[in-house]
Amino acid sequence: MNIHEYQAKALLKEYGAPVSDGRAVLSAADAKSAAGELDGPLWVVKAQIHAGGRGKGKFVEADAGEKGGVRLAKSVEEAAEEAKKMLGKTLVTHQTGPAGKQVNRIYIEDGSDIDRELYLALLVDRQTSRVSFVCSTEGGMDIEEVAAATPEKILSFSVDPATGYQAFHGRRVAFALGLEGAQVKQCVKLMGQLYQAFIEKDMEQLEINPLIVMPDGNIKVLDAKVGFDGNALYRHPDIVELRDETEEDPKELAASQHDLNYIALDGEIGCMVNGAGLAMATMDIIKLYGAEPANFLDVGGGATKEKVTEAFKIITSDDNVKGILVNIFGGIMRCDIIAEGVIAAVKEMGLKVPLVVRLEGTNVELGKEIINNSGLDVIAADDLKDGAQKIVKAVKG
Ligand code: GDP
Ligand code: MG
Repeated sequence: MNIHEYQAKALLKEYGAPVSDGRAVLSAADAKSAAGELDGPLWVVKAQIHAGGRGKGKFVEADAGEKGGVRLAKSVEEAAEEAKKMLGKTLVTHQTGPAGKQVNRIYIEDGSDIDRELYLALLVDRQTSRVSFVCSTEGGMDIEEVAAATPEKILSFSVDPATGYQAFHGRRVAFALGLEGAQVKQCVKLMGQLYQAFIEKDMEQLEINPLIVMPDGNIKVLDAKVGFDGNALYRHPDIVELRDETEEDPKELAASQHDLNYIALDGEIGCMVNGAGLAMATMDIIKLYGAEPANFLDVGGGATKEKVTEAFKIITSDDNVKGILVNIFGGIMRCDIIAEGVIAAVKEMGLKVPLVVRLEGTNVELGKEIINNSGLDVIAADDLKDGAQKIVKAVKG
């Protein structure tokens, strides 16, 4: 689960991290009074969407102006004006996809003077099975670009969970970032605060780009992007409250409400599969035969007919889907439950695209019988390869 920048900064502030004073607003009317509560003489007006690259983004609407989603203002009036221009408009960045995201919230912050922009992230490193600090002197830029062009400029240090965070971790980060003197002490303190927040709140990712050095030599968190481990949310009701469902893909939101493991993708073949491994293999083989999956979906082992019905409805609600492949290897999952769920969903939603069904395993005969007797126009497949070839052929001809 992701949160907005202003929420992330408020959270980090609780741990003592240096952030600017700011106010989040939902309307242009509130923007002026919010800006008036800040000191100036520089204000930063920031579109709040769950995507990075806002500064370099572009608005779809002409009346939002030429500037991106991060704007500097020199007066309260100018700050309110920029907020008004962005609210309700659609911002496209390299992380939103071409459709962009509507800006419904604005964060107005006290502007900072910047000497250097640095990059810092904490993440769970799967290779070392540890939390790692990732840092670079090339902050404020697209880190993927830095990683591609100059990978040597990105350094990573992992923290042994047995010792937890130690000052030497912070000093390593400080030296890698070229910090000196009193800044090193500040950095050691800040890294400790970030590490504590990361662990206590079960974060998955904490990215600060940029972390800035100001002309007075102090460092500050200027941007913050935080993602939490969904499996740990049950122990953080305060974090769950920060969820902004308008930022989420409606299909993924519906899936999460039914406790389904679903991720929307850009392809044309909808997939309904049991087991994450089989779901990934199914996506791979669809690609192998020349098409693209429209989603990842693992209906899980103990799915009910209702859950399967919801899953099928989510797949068919995607306009990009030009064909559906149901691939079930029933172990704990029973093939008859899948068959009943598919039929119930088709009865409710109709079926406008070809459907290939491959069933194998527990209660397979019963499952096939249910589908055969349903009168549904289903293309039966014998195995994974057969199923993939048939759905790609049905869609691509
Ligand atoms: P992002 O584009 O979504 O990553 O948004 P950021 O919060 O990182 O802002 C983008 C860029 O705007 C930063 O890299 C800075 O160069 C600039 N910026 C943001 N806040 C300030 C500020 O307080 N003062 C100044 N001078 N520039 C800022
Ligand atoms: Mg940024």
